[in-house]
Amino acid sequence: MSIKRLVMVVEDDSSIRNMISALLSANGYSVVTAEDGRMALTLIASYNPDIILLDLGLPDMDGMEVLKSVRGWSAAPIIVVSARSQEAEKVAALDAGAGDYIVKPFGTEELLARLRATLRYTDRMVQGDKVSDVCSVGGLRVDFGRRLVSVDGKYVHLTQIEFKILALLCKNAGRVLTYEHICRSVWGPYSSRDNQILRVNVANIRHKIEKNPAQPRYILTEVGVGYRLVEEVEEDGEEEDAAPRKKKEK
Ligand code: CA
Repeated sequence: MSIKRLVMVVEDDSSIRNMISALLSANGYSVVTAEDGRMALTLIASYNPDIILLDLGLPDMDGMEVLKSVRGWSAAPIIVVSARSQEAEKVAALDAGAGDYIVKPFGTEELLARLRATLRYTDRMVQGDKVSDVCSVGGLRVDFGRRLVSVDGKYVHLTQIEFKILALLCKNAGRVLTYEHICRSVWGPYSSRDNQILRVNVANIRHKIEKNPAQPRYILTEVGVGYRLVEEVEEDGEEEDAAPRKKKEK
């Protein structure tokens, strides 16, 4: 029914490249691959892919250079795929315009979920943000227009700031947002770089919307990077103290 989305896979390791290609083809995407940075730049310019999966460790240049170059002339979203797990690297990639990142080794479901979330977000931006006025994830429902939040059918009162943070995360569901990005969006471009106020607000939101704020199901922390609102909540299948809760629900 829909046109296949074209994914450019930039990866020098042939086994990973083939694995990702096969996975994406099996899930309805068209795939073009590049094995180094120079080839990637040429092919991205000629194919104009819908989304790019970019390995950072390339033989001829650093993937960050590819990212910065492509960001200068293409709006295609880029998901950085990297073995580098340091927070600073992730933040640098996001700040340089990556839409998200995924760390090797990753699960196939995780990769597909990141792709879907990033494509969905880009589609909404292209359509001029004609997002539905309501975001629902599991039992969480956020009505942007009426500024109402409910969890499992019960209304929850959030402060203005808490609502702004939650609404921002909802509009970006599935994508990680850096602390700085959130602070800038909520408090303005001159907000202090101090993340403490953000952490306090997120803790307060969790207390209001999470069953167990210490094991959040909706707002996940990406340590050292930022927060990500999940796109789908696993139904009460969590192992942690699921047994007593299940009994209550009989
Ligand atoms: Ca590599």
